[in-house]
Amino acid sequence: MRNIFSLLLLALTFVFVKCSSVPLSDRSQLALINNDKIFPMSYEQYEQVKKESKIITGTEDARTVKRVGTRIQRAVEQYFADQGQSSYLNDYQWEFNLIDNDSTVNAWCMPGGKVAFYTGIMPICQDELGVAVVMGHEIAHAIANHGRERISQQYAAQFGLSAVSIILTGGSGGPSIPTEIIMQGAGAATSLGILAFSRKHESEADKLGLYFMAMAGYNPEEAPKFWERMAANSGGEAPPEFVSTHPSHDTRIADLKANMPKAMEYYRKSQ
Ligand SMILES: [Zn+2]
Repeated sequence: MRNIFSLLLLALTFVFVKCSSVPLSDRSQLALINNDKIFPMSYEQYEQVKKESKIITGTEDARTVKRVGTRIQRAVEQYFADQGQSSYLNDYQWEFNLIDNDSTVNAWCMPGGKVAFYTGIMPICQDELGVAVVMGHEIAHAIANHGRERISQQYAAQFGLSAVSIILTGGSGGPSIPTEIIMQGAGAATSLGILAFSRKHESEADKLGLYFMAMAGYNPEEAPKFWERMAANSGGEAPPEFVSTHPSHDTRIADLKANMPKAMEYYRKSQ
């Protein structure tokens, strides 16, 4: 009986203490590990990607990626400041780079705000507005902390409740977080062979991404048009971030349209 009681208590603690709620979304998520454990590893990994890739600088496309990223970042920071929640973004170190790789139709964001676009996605973006659709979506993954959530889920699945209880009670001796779990949580696809996000995460990133681009003054009505172009292009190799795990095309367009009125409110406020 006592064991059952403590297990119940543990379960309650598990639910109430180690969850966090996703901003602008009515969803609570598992958050077993703090950002200060995950972000430094994410930043290290991003530096590694930069070393192994050709980062483009000085072109119009490279400038557009940085300009759009910075503009949406600032709009998001303003939104959190208006909510009195600036501290939520304390550990984020935003960076926006364009990688030279025409055959990769993809973009991603590592935990803490490290974004990469591949040149292969630029023709589908077409212009600054199209870049804003993708950028909003990527920044949304970082703000919603999907990487940390996935790391937490994998940690709990791999080590079970006993390891979680060690973390919760502050005891020592629990297994440390294996590097590969952090790596997978980072969500960087392609070159690293890392798993893509779940459909739930993709749908949430679509919704928040729509809001974030709108807050930055980009017309969110471009989003369904961008995804139409992406769907038309996906006949060949399926890019992990944008096709294989994403909601089906029709679901995605329907969801975007359902979220459009709220996004247009943010857009009008930004004008
Ligand atoms: Zn995504």
